[in-house]
Amino acid sequence: MEKSSFELFLDLITFDQSLHETEKKLAAALAHLTQVKKVQEGIVTRHEAVRTHVHSLKKEVDVKEREMKELDSQEKSAKARLGGISNQKEYQALKDEALVLKKKQHDYEATLMTVWNAYEVAQKELQKHESEFEAQCTQAAQECAQQETIITECRQFLDAASHERRAKEQGVPEAWLVTYSRMKNSVKNPVVKLVGDSCSACFHSMTIHDAQTLKTQQLLQCKGCFRFMYDSAQENLPS
Ligand SMILES: [Zn+2]
Repeated sequence: MEKSSFELFLDLITFDQSLHETEKKLAAALAHLTQVKKVQEGIVTRHEAVRTHVHSLKKEVDVKEREMKELDSQEKSAKARLGGISNQKEYQALKDEALVLKKKQHDYEATLMTVWNAYEVAQKELQKHESEFEAQCTQAAQECAQQETIITECRQFLDAASHERRAKEQGVPEAWLVTYSRMKNSVKNPVVKLVGDSCSACFHSMTIHDAQTLKTQQLLQCKGCFRFMYDSAQENLPS
């Protein structure tokens, strides 16, 4: 026996409801993926910051070492010039200059040590961070791959279902489809039964005119909640 429009319509609704789980799963996987990507970005940003810090300390160490060498060669050159001077005054001046340079070198050593220490500490931190970073990256990548697999599977399933759905729309009056598509995403139960003379979802009472109409047609939209109502007194209808 061929199915009535009403039965076909209920079939379509049941079919759509059977997709809800997959739709929910897809939405959850998409949200999870977005979250994991954000975490991934955070991991990379933090790692970059640690690396940049080490790099700038290394540069500072290099600069300080160059300056130290410069002081050293200045001192050596001053000392070397001492031998060729006979004038006592000039000799003393050059000797003072060499002493000042020596003192500068000495003072500078402390600064260099401080920078060196900071650099070494940062380098150790980076090494520790490096292994953590690898582990975090691997974990994030795995989570991304998991969610992407779920997303692909859900999309394939829903894509196939959309072809099936088009076939299920055949024989359902266009007006019902239009109304249904409007309420589909906001209402879980778009078709409800009539209890007494009221809608069983929102308890809105029907007018006498509506009650008469429902005797001659299978579905009527509730004026309270706009769901489809049917009279369960009719045969072969869900209760
Ligand atoms: Zn209602």
